[in-house]
Formats: sequence, C-alpha cells, structure tokens
Amino acid sequence: MKITEAKFAGSSTRVSNGPRRQLPEFAFIGRSNVGKSSLINMLTGRSRLAMTSSTPGKTKVINHFIINDNWYLVDLPGYGYAKLSQKARADLQQIIRGYILESGNLVCLFVLVDSRFDITKSDVEFLAWLGENGVPFALIFTKCDKQSAAATAAQVEKDKAILLEQWEELPPMFTSSSAKKAGREEILAYIESLLSDK
Ligand code: GDP
Repeated sequence: MKITEAKFAGSSTRVSNGPRRQLPEFAFIGRSNVGKSSLINMLTGRSRLAMTSSTPGKTKVINHFIINDNWYLVDLPGYGYAKLSQKARADLQQIIRGYILESGNLVCLFVLVDSRFDITKSDVEFLAWLGENGVPFALIFTKCDKQSAAATAAQVEKDKAILLEQWEELPPMFTSSSAKKAGREEILAYIESLLSDK
C-alpha cells in the first residue's frame, strides 16, 4: 500500500469523543518505549506524525490519524509506566480497554513487543484478555536492528513457545526496525489485505 496522505484526526479518551466518521481502524499499542511512535512514523513515512517518548508533555490519549482518506491509524497510549499512581494506571487501563471494546471499527490491533527480550507477563496477560474478548490482533517485534537477524529469530521462537502455552494458534507476526525501515511493506500489505476483505 502506498500512503499518499496521513493527517492527524483528533485526540480522545473515549470512543464517544473520537472522530465521527466511521472508517476501518488499525490500532497500535505497546509498553512505553517499545518503539510505537517511531514505527507509526516509519509506516506512514512522516517523521513527526506520532510524538516520540522524548516529546515533553506527551499525554495519555487516543490519537486518530486518517490515512489515504480511507482508514484510521489509531495510536493508543503506552502502558506499563513504572511511575504511575494506581489511579492513573486505572484511568489508563479504562481508556485503552474502553477503546478496544467499544470502537466497533477496530479491524486489527497491532501489539508491539521488543524483539530483544522475552515477551513480558503483562503482555501475555493483555493478549489473553484480547483473546477472551475476541479482539483480532497481530504482534510486531520492534527494534530488530539492535541485534543480529539470528538473535531476533531465536527470540521470536522463544516468544512463540511462551504463547503456545496458552494459545492453540499463533497470531500473525511481523518483525520491524524503524531505524532500518524494515517490516514496513509487510505490515502495510497486511493492512491492505484486511481492508480489501471488508
Ligand atoms: P514509544 O514510547 O513506544 O512511542 O517509543 P519511541 O518510538 O518513542 O521509541 C523509544 C526509543 O527507542 C527512542 O529513543 C527511539 O529512537 C528508539 N527506537 C524506536 N524504534 C527503534 C528502532 O527500530 N531501532 C532503534 N535502534 N531504536 C529505536
């Protein structure tokens, strides 16, 4: 898929305050610092569409971007911030889970995990919650340039084994590097294939 247009379409904390136009949505989520903003910028070919972690005052909201006037790319807040109070953590969970359950237009949720480390317990629990709620998702292993291809492949195999303890079937999986623009074609082709099924 060629991205000809990518525009910010609003921030919200719940579906009722999101964009009114009904279009298929593809959302991205992951622990803070996993490389989500960099990946969104890499996929869209816009260097500053999503704000990276270094941006001061980065808020915990849902950001919609309209792509090719045809679908929404949805940037969900990062989770797993160590320093959040219990209340802030609960609010964040409400924003994330509220969107996922109520969107009605979510075609696929891309869950980002760092390709260098074992998938975390909280990620595994989050995926189980997605499964319980019938939410379609795919996994993206980020920052692959930080290690050899063999090390990434070994880590992916390890994570597959962890997932197969709970799942009968594995989700679609992609490896990516925003630094090297790797994984872009595959992820966009996957989105395009889901759009054409609609
Ligand atoms: P977010 O918090 O998930 O949005 O993560 P960011 O996109 O802000 O990235 C967090 C940090 O990881 C930043 O310092 C990025 O420059 C770095 N980073 C993100 N993606 C990559 C990547 O593919 N390769 C490398 N080497 N660094 C990356």
